[in-house]
Amino acid sequence: MLTRRTILGALAALPLAPRAFAQARLSYDLVAKPLADGIWMVEGATDHFSMQNGGAIVNITLIKGDSGLILIDTGSSRRYGEALVTLARSLDIRGISTVVNTHHHPDHFFGNQVFAGTPILALGETRQAALAEGEGFADNMYRILGDWMRGTEVVPPTDVIAGGDIRLDGRDFLALPLGGHTAADLALLDRRTGTLIAGDLVFHNRAPTTPSADLPRWIASLDALDAQKPALILPGHGPADPTGAAITQTRDYLRWLDTALRDGAQSGLDMVELMDTPLPERFATMGAQPQEYQRSVTHLFPGIELEELPRGN
Ligand SMILES: [Zn+2]
Repeated sequence: MLTRRTILGALAALPLAPRAFAQARLSYDLVAKPLADGIWMVEGATDHFSMQNGGAIVNITLIKGDSGLILIDTGSSRRYGEALVTLARSLDIRGISTVVNTHHHPDHFFGNQVFAGTPILALGETRQAALAEGEGFADNMYRILGDWMRGTEVVPPTDVIAGGDIRLDGRDFLALPLGGHTAADLALLDRRTGTLIAGDLVFHNRAPTTPSADLPRWIASLDALDAQKPALILPGHGPADPTGAAITQTRDYLRWLDTALRDGAQSGLDMVELMDTPLPERFATMGAQPQEYQRSVTHLFPGIELEELPRGN
């Protein structure tokens, strides 16, 4: 069957198509920042997906293992995954030995196809969600990012891991199977350095995204991460944090969001009125605001409104 994507791909492949020619130079300029012993982070933009950033909005972690690098999350496209392969080789000529997906959002696993033959680990529910929702995400990503996505196919994680103490390529981690940002969010604590790779359970100076969120569960997960007292936190979006402020900020925002939506429902505001409500200063300055707040209203308000409606007889 010809999907929209195969048609786009076929058009892009026409040798004389000026559009394809002009966009052939699209490339990601990825930089690996060394942050701890054998740990690098590629820091994404704190904006939404756009043609300008090519979807490079996510943080990626690379960790030295015994036989190569452990890659945590693979980015938003085939092209991004290829850029990661090149970057990894510049850090360790042996390249990437192991891949982990923290959760099933497209900016975290759409580079997977480049790592065929390498184990791609994730929680079982993440694998299921990638299978169920991956194609829908892909349609959306192609619509927003066009040629940046060319050739990208959805490749779900291949291997399921559980929580607890695990060894990946000779390096010891505590795997924390949590949730709330999505149904299954994996965080990894590197035992050697105390670095917490938090995935999208933690955002930092960037508004949290909520399309798959369960706010009370997410807040409980943040408490569990805090209890680990990490030496360094690598959030899913935004700068690395050695102080714990990123966990506090994410929790503060989610609590405020939940209260604001419930108060809005109780006082009879509709969705548009709620979207127009000014944000408190400490949240207004986060990346991707106020758009992310407005998106959260559309994701979360219908359910909260139902919960908050006065019960009839
Ligand atoms: Zn996410």
